[in-house]
Amino acid sequence: MGPSCQSCGLPLMRPSDFGKEANGVLKIDYCGYCYDKGRFTEPDLTIDQMADKLAVPMAEKRGMPVEAAWAQAKEVLVRLKRWRAREAK
Ligand SMILES: [Zn+2]
Repeated sequence: MGPSCQSCGLPLMRPSDFGKEANGVLKIDYCGYCYDKGRFTEPDLTIDQMADKLAVPMAEKRGMPVEAAWAQAKEVLVRLKRWRAREAK
């Protein structure tokens, strides 16, 4: 397993997948959808809202109920840095 976005869990395979700091340097921990120009694109997003976003495409891809996909998505998300850091604050 390669690196994955520590906000949404998306695999980060190419330099273009990564987010960027305000000075254009790649942000190693996050993808470009979650993090751009030195900040989270949706700074007020909650972990449950992120699970909402992931559940539908995941359910379609795997042919599973959205509720089950949501639970699986959340299980992955709770281990990611963005959401762990939020707990600590
Ligand atoms: Zn992401």
